[in-house]
Amino acid sequence: MTEQHGGVSFAPDEETRLILDSIDEFIEQEVKPREKELGETFDNPRLRNAPNGAVADEVIDAVDEVRRKSAEAGFYAMNMPEEYGGDDVSNVTWYFAKRRVAEKGRGLSEFMLAGPEGPKPLLLQAEGEQVERYLEPCIRGEKTTAFALTEPSVGSDAPSMKTTAEKKGDEWVLNGTKQWITNAPHCDFAQVFARTTPQDEAGRYGGITCFLVERDEFELGSRNNAVGLEGLQAEIVLDDVRVPNDRILGTRDGAFYNAMSFLSLGRLELGATAVGMSRHLLDLCKEYAGDREAFGRPIGKYQQISNMVAKGRARNYAADAAGTRLAWQMDEGQGTVEQSSIFKWFATDTFWQIADDAVQIHGASGLSEDSPFMEHLHLARILRIVEGTDEIQLNTVAKQNGLL
Ligand SMILES: Cc1cc2nc3c(=O)[nH]c(=O)nc-3n(C[C@H](O)[C@H](O)[C@H](O)COP(=O)(O)OP(=O)(O)OC[C@H]3O[C@@H](n4cnc5c(N)ncnc54)[C@H](O)[C@@H]3O)c2cc1C
Repeated sequence: MTEQHGGVSFAPDEETRLILDSIDEFIEQEVKPREKELGETFDNPRLRNAPNGAVADEVIDAVDEVRRKSAEAGFYAMNMPEEYGGDDVSNVTWYFAKRRVAEKGRGLSEFMLAGPEGPKPLLLQAEGEQVERYLEPCIRGEKTTAFALTEPSVGSDAPSMKTTAEKKGDEWVLNGTKQWITNAPHCDFAQVFARTTPQDEAGRYGGITCFLVERDEFELGSRNNAVGLEGLQAEIVLDDVRVPNDRILGTRDGAFYNAMSFLSLGRLELGATAVGMSRHLLDLCKEYAGDREAFGRPIGKYQQISNMVAKGRARNYAADAAGTRLAWQMDEGQGTVEQSSIFKWFATDTFWQIADDAVQIHGASGLSEDSPFMEHLHLARILRIVEGTDEIQLNTVAKQNGLL
């Protein structure tokens, strides 16, 4: 007799297990050899970027290749609908896939599954020609995009944006500056959010429209080089940029509401990365703590060190359970406003603590640019800011509990 467990299962189904095995194979056969070919240019963070922060051309070529091959193999945007070239996999499968890739640690494999440069549910609002021109090539990994919301004067308080779009005849004229926009230097087109109706008429979240703006239609401003992700973010400068009416993505004045309805997915994906990379670091820590000797014993025999690993394992276990449950709730169509904020905050905070302990456990070699630890620590720090800061996530939880 099959045990029902009250209807709950945490086991990946057969299809998901096959996908995870194929991801492992893809990384071994396609990604690792490409990293090896790049050699020092990839291994040494100082050689990966030019002095102004731009990513070295050969690294960008390798990133493009990994993305396209991953799309051809059916991985890259497998959570997107089949009718546009995806594979319609569930949020649970997508979570496991994101986590599995992240378990390999930082590297070219980070570009194997669609991230901020790839198709998101917002882009599924593409209509008519937009489908062939933007959505489908993005799902095939042939084109990349950028999600342009943040501005110099607004980040968390995005609805207070200053960028405007004014209707003139059949066209819209966009003015403003976006900053910290991931993939701005390399994208084929950006999804630019602009105010189309003043806040006092449309309300705080109304009056914002998303426009599809081609790369040759906007200027690139300064680079915004975050330590640990140099070369990937930059300003988008919109100086009287004219786009036709049919470049509106989704509904006019409704873009912010649309974007908010997809927040949970972004938080799930980012948390999955945090959970996977934490596992990777914990494995390295366990091994090192067993091998490295000080005062005649492996350092793992000292309680202060073993506690770091044990607490890391416990936090990672709890974060993963929260992520799996969130993905399942999303598949069930349940409301996940509070759960996605809890998960994003907890998984990234945990990643940060584990990454910091990983540096500590490895001593001076933890600080070395030849070891992976500082790179993970920088990324962990970044993940606590992007897709809603720690404070914004905790505000959401407080609001959901009747406070604030
Ligand atoms: C590597 C990287 C990639 C990024 N990619 C993109 C991208 O692709 N597209 C995009 O649009 N943006 C992107 N961003 C921007 C990112 O989304 C913002 O940095 C983030 O939303 C925070 O905004 P801010 O930096 O302006 O900080 P602010 O909003 O100015 O916040 C500053 C501090 O005040 C706190 N704070 C603000 N409001 C409150 C409040 N109500 N209660 C308590 N504390 C509060 C914040 O938590 C933070 O600690 C990226 C940023 C980085 C670093």
